[in-house]
Amino acid sequence: MSKIQAIRGMRTILPEEAPVWQWLESKVRSITWRYGYQEIRLPILEPVSLFERAIGESTDIVSKEMYNFLDKSGEHITLRPEGTSGCVRTIIENNMCYNNTQRLWYLGPMFRYERPQKGRLRQFTQFGVETFGMPGADIDAELIYMANDIFKALKVERYVRLEINSLGTLSERHEHRHQLVSYFEQHRNLLDEDSLLRLQSNPLRILDSKNPDMQSMIEGAPKLLDYLGSESHQHFDELCRLLDSAGIRYTINPRLVRGLDYYTRTVFEWITDELGSQGTICGGGRYDGLVELFSHKTLPASGFAIGIERLLLLLETVGVKGNISNHPDVVVTCEDPGQNIDALLLADQLRRHLPEFKVLSDFTGARIKRQHSNALKTGCRYIVTLNADSRTGLWDLKANLQETMRPDDIWKKLANRSVKTTAD
Ligand code: ATP
Ligand code: MG
Repeated sequence: MSKIQAIRGMRTILPEEAPVWQWLESKVRSITWRYGYQEIRLPILEPVSLFERAIGESTDIVSKEMYNFLDKSGEHITLRPEGTSGCVRTIIENNMCYNNTQRLWYLGPMFRYERPQKGRLRQFTQFGVETFGMPGADIDAELIYMANDIFKALKVERYVRLEINSLGTLSERHEHRHQLVSYFEQHRNLLDEDSLLRLQSNPLRILDSKNPDMQSMIEGAPKLLDYLGSESHQHFDELCRLLDSAGIRYTINPRLVRGLDYYTRTVFEWITDELGSQGTICGGGRYDGLVELFSHKTLPASGFAIGIERLLLLLETVGVKGNISNHPDVVVTCEDPGQNIDALLLADQLRRHLPEFKVLSDFTGARIKRQHSNALKTGCRYIVTLNADSRTGLWDLKANLQETMRPDDIWKKLANRSVKTTAD
């Protein structure tokens, strides 16, 4: 028989991995809540045209990474490669920004046909935040404060650093692009194959090439910051001031351009040095021109996305353990298989009276000794045994104390003992 396996680059999150995901997700949810952001749940399938227009055909995502297919009625559909475009579609479709601002967040799978490697998957998870209707550096700063709070809550703030840059407006970028192309033309002999392709389609991307042979040439390229007009400068200066006031450290990286066409002014990345070349954990910025591509309204917008798998890799690498426990608090065992109804009802009674407790029943039908050794392996705190004489044993594994009592007394005995399934 041929072996059945998951699709390359698409991982199953195994039960033993789920607690750290749940811990991370609960931290992220609580931070979005405290900042007053609302959750949006976007479809996983979107029309191909949405991304072609929003992200741009010259980007890696649209030109080679999308999972496109025709559905049964011949529509061009794709698995979403990112969440920003879907948010923009939603707010336009539902007229959500009429006299209003929006602060939204989402968490879910994204799909890109890339070469799978550590920190790079074909299905990966993004936590993303998008805001609409606010043009100032203050909301950009708020986004950065929020990302910073997430890294703090997960105890990895020491391992990430923030880089920022400004891409100016589309027209400022236009002028810079012109100069950039002619600079690269002059150094054409130093450009690698990838960069030659980008020279016409997306020359800005050449700036973030990792090719060591091109680094010193790139260092000398015209810098976008020198082409900003006074409003863009002010916006950037204010952002720096707002970060300084909050004590958030950053470096200005004039070569930070981000992969997508739609950014304007603020761009930022949080990077770690712990994960090798897949070190960008979070990327974001302002995209004031995007809404206009789909409607006749202009609407300022700004957001970021965190790659959850990379963040989890970082937690693992630096030894941070989320502690939502996977252990049951109580395992109910039963000596006589004929009493399994009583055992089931006993477990039910415990759950009703002890809502904080995680209660697991042994349904293996094995001998009681085997049931106990199985229970011990789960790491539980208590083993309850329904004995053949209809008394129940309560075994407190931590105190190593065994008592016998009536079944109805078990929950009373446990009621004033707290269990801690979640912790910081
Ligand atoms: P990269 O340069 O690493 O390809 P990107 O610029 O394509 O990243 P974005 O589109 O900005 O990434 O997505 C935001 C974040 O999502 C990234 O910083 C990263 O943490 C994560 N991410 C992007 N692509 C992948 C992937 N294929 N697998 C895992 N995480 C990813
Ligand atoms: Mg990419």
